[in-house]
Amino acid sequence: MATFAPDADGIGASFATVLTNIAMLGGTFDPIHSGHLRSAVELREHLNFDELRLVPCHVPPHRDVPQATSAQRLRMLELALADEPGLAIDARELQRGAPSYSIDTLIALRAELGAHCALSLIVGMDAFAQLHTWHRWQELLDYAHIVVIARPGSALPQSGAVADLLHAKRGDSATFAAQPNGSIVSVELTPLPISATAIRQLINSGHSPRYLLPDAVWNYIREQRLY
Ligand code: ATP
Repeated sequence: MATFAPDADGIGASFATVLTNIAMLGGTFDPIHSGHLRSAVELREHLNFDELRLVPCHVPPHRDVPQATSAQRLRMLELALADEPGLAIDARELQRGAPSYSIDTLIALRAELGAHCALSLIVGMDAFAQLHTWHRWQELLDYAHIVVIARPGSALPQSGAVADLLHAKRGDSATFAAQPNGSIVSVELTPLPISATAIRQLINSGHSPRYLLPDAVWNYIREQRLY
């Protein structure tokens, strides 16, 4: 696990360990499950990330199904990642206590990691197709690469503003990390058919979600009487 240390100028923080290729994967992680974990491990190996950070987002309290609190989602991430040194948790969006834009998280990460570290934002194909609706979307590549997770048979956007950006910025997954930011690469992964929604529904209806998520997380869910 990397450790943070203050910058000499005292403004930001930087890694005491030298990291050169970092990625972030945002999500609700309510709860974290084996679909997230397998994808994270495969992406890290395929794209040679030194560290892949799972970034739980702030979710306003609401809704029909019982929701885990931010503290509970964070604890489940900690339990899930306890034995996996290449994966880390970045809790900055929870600490803000309000929803964050991805651009703000990337700006903060870039300030901490310095100008030379390769930084990647991982997004699913569905999210990528809607990139033009994101806050300050045209600035994302000023701070990071974008890694798009493609499913076998899924197609990247062919027309429109996102397709134009892809056409201008498409990079090679073997070489993109030689630059700190600015490329879009797509990686084909076969996702496990697991979702947090389905896990919550199983638990809610009295069924076992065992083997869809780490046992430590399932034990915690039972202990806390979640979902
Ligand atoms: P929910 O069912 O509550 O919408 P989810 O299972 O999709 O949740 P999120 O926390 O929303 O989980 O997902 C975080 C990220 O992980 C997203 O980019 C999402 O596309 C990706 N992801 C979710 N499930 C899988 C899976 N089975 N395989 C690969 N990636 C996944």
